[in-house]
Amino acid sequence: MEKRIFALILAIFTIFSLQANAESLLKIEDFLKSYDVEFFWDDFRQVGLIRTGSQTITFKAGFDYFLLNYSQKRFCGGITLDGDGRILLSQEAQGSFSEILQPYKINPNVMKIAAIVIDPGHGGFDSGAVSPFDVGGSRLMEKDVVLAISLLLDKKLKEKYPEKRIEMTRSTDIFIELEKRTEIANNIKIKKNEAIIFISIHANASPFRPNAEGFEVWCNPEDKTKKMMTEDMKKDIPKQALSIFEMLLQEEINTETKILASNILKGLEDALGANIPNRGLKENDWAVVMNARMPAVLVEVGFLTHKKEAERLKNNQYLEKLADGIFKGLVTFVDTFESTNGFTGGQVE
Ligand SMILES: [Zn+2]
Repeated sequence: MEKRIFALILAIFTIFSLQANAESLLKIEDFLKSYDVEFFWDDFRQVGLIRTGSQTITFKAGFDYFLLNYSQKRFCGGITLDGDGRILLSQEAQGSFSEILQPYKINPNVMKIAAIVIDPGHGGFDSGAVSPFDVGGSRLMEKDVVLAISLLLDKKLKEKYPEKRIEMTRSTDIFIELEKRTEIANNIKIKKNEAIIFISIHANASPFRPNAEGFEVWCNPEDKTKKMMTEDMKKDIPKQALSIFEMLLQEEINTETKILASNILKGLEDALGANIPNRGLKENDWAVVMNARMPAVLVEVGFLTHKKEAERLKNNQYLEKLADGIFKGLVTFVDTFESTNGFTGGQVE
């Protein structure tokens, strides 16, 4: 299924990029998309700077030469500005730049999870669910339970993945608007071959069913149209192909979300043991996961209205187990995602 979608996306891409390649001048933004580099442009002096970890290319519009590492003069044959001030590279310039930038070429065959965003629900004046009875001398509040688990999870993920961005929407007892939470995740800049995971952590309450206990994972129903594409993504895609891209992207993210959810359920099941009910995967259009343009799930770690479970949720060792279960589920997802190149089996080229 995934392979088919990818093949289709690539076919569409190829058709349209062939059209675009008919002219030999290439906008510098388009050229640099395939490289992991930084680009700066000084509009006043019309000087551009391409920087990698160790190399710097300095060029000036209208000049046939550029400077490598501020010292070596090299021929590049033509960098011009068009009427709208866009920087255009001649084929020669593309050739000489790609020679230098080769080691920084982004490999589209290697899909990576670049960032994991942990969202502890509620906070500040919004305590979330509250236990209707005292647990160890006071009422237990959802905002505290989920923050404690999230902090443990954050630590585990940072140790396991020092190269990835692990972000929390809050790491203290403060209130954050729902929109702000997904905005944090949506605003993380990633490259073409990278993806982000969003995980919101909550605790349940069921005042009328005090026997309800266990954990569950929620994701968006598939029929809900989630707007996946950013304005930035749309820029690259021909207008007539936009809706099909949107649909394919939604389908892909829905599938990834389901895999992520089942990985987390399995992780929790293994970590908590058979005595804690696994309530399974559920669907609802939670705003917090709805607006995240990435695989996004909401984990309910247990019921504050269940006497025994509330006691467990007060216990640090149990919170450690919960964090460990979610962590293991995430690791399974990341490992599978990265080793299969985003579940496509590495057929992207
Ligand atoms: Zn909640």
